[in-house]
Amino acid sequence: MPVVWDDDCRLHDPGAEIWIGVRTPAVETAARTDAILEALRGAGAPVVDAVPHDDAALLAVHDAALLDYLASAWAEWDGAGLPADPGQDRVVPYVFAHAGLTSSPAVPTAVWARPGYYCYDTMTLIGPGTWEAARAAADSALTAVDLVLDDAPAAYACCRPPGHHVCRACYGGSCYLNNAAIAAWELASRLGEPVAILDLDAHHGNGTQEIFWEREDVLVGSVHVDPGAGWFPHFAGFAGETGGGANRNRPLAPGSGDDAWLSAVSELAAWAAGAAALVVPLGVDAAGGDPESPLQVTSAGFREAGRILGGLALPTVVVQEGGYDLERIGPLVLETLLGLESALR
Ligand SMILES: [Zn+2]
Repeated sequence: MPVVWDDDCRLHDPGAEIWIGVRTPAVETAARTDAILEALRGAGAPVVDAVPHDDAALLAVHDAALLDYLASAWAEWDGAGLPADPGQDRVVPYVFAHAGLTSSPAVPTAVWARPGYYCYDTMTLIGPGTWEAARAAADSALTAVDLVLDDAPAAYACCRPPGHHVCRACYGGSCYLNNAAIAAWELASRLGEPVAILDLDAHHGNGTQEIFWEREDVLVGSVHVDPGAGWFPHFAGFAGETGGGANRNRPLAPGSGDDAWLSAVSELAAWAAGAAALVVPLGVDAAGGDPESPLQVTSAGFREAGRILGGLALPTVVVQEGGYDLERIGPLVLETLLGLESALR
């Protein structure tokens, strides 16, 4: 299947993340997509360039103020001299617009306070190139939509940075624009029929859930490690969250492997079978050995998940999300896409 890529996705270099106050090396790096592209090219997949798109789909799923902030955050931070004094070379919040802080939070005047209005964690740093990369990832997802609405049965968007943790008006979780939501909105509006999003990332796609919470024509299903067992995104992803009726979460206990995971994938696929198109936010961090998740899915499990989703025989856009084991991320994505293709044929 076509692999959509934009070199600008390499421009984002967070350098670090601040986790429980400690500056640690970034795990969401360009080496991730380098490894994926190497594996897919090695298997003979055709790689096509992303095509620039206008902002219509971005504005449909995100607040204009968030987009404006993301586009200008680095220049504003740099212009305020913060890289020199106090010496912070990335945009990172130190205070947050918590619901209890004020009933109507206004965007702070201070440049150093402003990130906390839009960003909900300290792990999602902005530097030079972050916006360009995030925008390129959105273009990649939209280009994959174009391909499946043309004549490709499926297309894979090699998006980086990832997107499924971005809500309508706030970003976090190493994500800046919700590529999968953008793709789903575009598919739903152009088809005029219901679409389904089935999120395989090890972490709950809280942003996608929030964006489509009330929409009955965009089914949002997710299988992920149970946030109640102590895992990101902590505040969302529980089984009881059903939104307007078209949201379904299948949280799994830490340590769950192929049996439990594939059973949830099968159930979600059956639930989504009536949709006119499918978006798959594909994180491969559910694999055993991934440093960011305790799930234990095997390579064969990912191929089987691809086969199950391909069995729906829907126009399918696969969007890259997480996966942090640089040795295995490429082969795991390849296995999933091979499974999907084998069923679509
Ligand atoms: Zn993840």
